[in-house]
Amino acid sequence: MQDLPADRDALKALLDFHVEAGVDLALDETPHNRFAEPKPEPAQARGTAPQGQQALASSSPASSPPPRALPKAAAGAPDEVAGLAREQARHAQSLEELETILAGFEGCALKFSAKNLAFADGNPEGRVMLVGEAPGADEDRIGKPFMGRSGQLLDRMLATIGLDRSQVYVANIVPWRPPGNRTPTPQEIAICKPFIARQIELASPEFLICLGGPAAQNLLGLKDGILRTRGRWFTYKTEDGREIRALPTLHPAYLLRQPLQKRLGWRDFMALRRALDAKE
Ligand code: URA
Repeated sequence: MQDLPADRDALKALLDFHVEAGVDLALDETPHNRFAEPKPEPAQARGTAPQGQQALASSSPASSPPPRALPKAAAGAPDEVAGLAREQARHAQSLEELETILAGFEGCALKFSAKNLAFADGNPEGRVMLVGEAPGADEDRIGKPFMGRSGQLLDRMLATIGLDRSQVYVANIVPWRPPGNRTPTPQEIAICKPFIARQIELASPEFLICLGGPAAQNLLGLKDGILRTRGRWFTYKTEDGREIRALPTLHPAYLLRQPLQKRLGWRDFMALRRALDAKE
């Protein structure tokens, strides 16, 4: 980009600004004023794009160019789509099958903006499974959870208690990156939850570590924030009736922003080490 004329420099600066602000994904060739568009038609009358993309797929005004064709996906209310997800997840008899089913599942709009499915990393036979929130840019590019800076900190935290990725299994409640790293919506989480629930059931770890508030709240049904629940043992119940000891702790991304809190994360990991040693 060295020989760019001035206006191209300005354009590059504008693009850099957007990327830094988290706007790093183009959903369409042209901008749309969604506020000026007519309300989407009722679900039955619409095509088959997923919730959240239906407006994109079907409601642009006649004067604007047609939006990029979006893939076919399950239509319906989030509850219906979550029901479909539950049915499909239940079919999986192995983690490989679950990954294949999830890769073909079109009920979550995030699939269509993500580059890759970030299903899991590490050892599914490990005694410990760690679950975070959702993939970021590095995870999306590589197609595995916890590959970026959070992942590097997670690895260092695991190393302090003598563990590495060959001994633990890592996943997220949502396996596709939300655009611009935004927080997944409650609907997206509800749709993806049956898959992570089945993933936990099939991996069947002895210990489940919930990394951050969203994982703790959505997997363990906790209402309190992570600073209240971290470091306490809870029980995670699988659909087939097994009980897994579960420990909420601070998310590594939070610890990168709040390094003084690392001592709390370290305490939680020490509690995990003691639990591992006690059960050996
Ligand atoms: N944050 C998460 O919650 N998960 C990842 O995989 C990466 C960052």
